[in-house]
Amino acid sequence: MFFWDPTYILVIIGLLISMAASAYVNRTFRRYDTVRSRSGVTGTDAARYILQQSGINDVAVQEISGDLTDNYNGQTKILSLSNSTAQSTSVAAIGVAAHECGHAVQDQRNYIPMRIRTAIVPAANIGSTLSFPLILLGVILGMNHTLINIGIAAFSLALLFQVVTLPVEFNASRRAIRILASGGILAADEVPMVRHVLTAAALTYVAAALSTFLQLLRLIILFGNNDRD
Ligand SMILES: [Zn+2]
Repeated sequence: MFFWDPTYILVIIGLLISMAASAYVNRTFRRYDTVRSRSGVTGTDAARYILQQSGINDVAVQEISGDLTDNYNGQTKILSLSNSTAQSTSVAAIGVAAHECGHAVQDQRNYIPMRIRTAIVPAANIGSTLSFPLILLGVILGMNHTLINIGIAAFSLALLFQVVTLPVEFNASRRAIRILASGGILAADEVPMVRHVLTAAALTYVAAALSTFLQLLRLIILFGNNDRD
């Protein structure tokens, strides 16, 4: 990202894909955030109910500030819902809460992709931090291909992380929809709305992975030539 060349178009395409995905998820979320669920339960109620139904007793549900900051932490066993999700009775909020419960269920059932994802977090973080400095240093040192290749390999760790995130996210939503559809919280005609919200949310992860892939492709096009001079 530090200089301009024709392959920069790949970065721009990735940026546009990410922006389109994020606009789509925002629009979809806003639309279903105006639909009150007929059961009248809040995101917090839904989360507690789903955890209980899934036989999970060691996960605490807490409210946090921020917008769409909802997450499940497997280390602390805390499922955090943003204020808007926690207190809202909308179909969208229940969907988000149920999705986070899907992660808690994955954790409880030792879902393998989730374990792999957790295991590669440190490497992916180091990779994405060091990749561009390494490549830049390689370029400055008169196209040092060893440094450049290590930089590209480090960058691909970030892509690997995003690719492993995909099954984890899709599976959490599938579990959420299955639990919501099995009764109690949502009426049959409300389930497709939740599916719509969660599919839109999952697309942002696909867009992120795609955009990282395009950046990696650009690096390979720029520096993949290993001719030494
Ligand atoms: Zn998720």
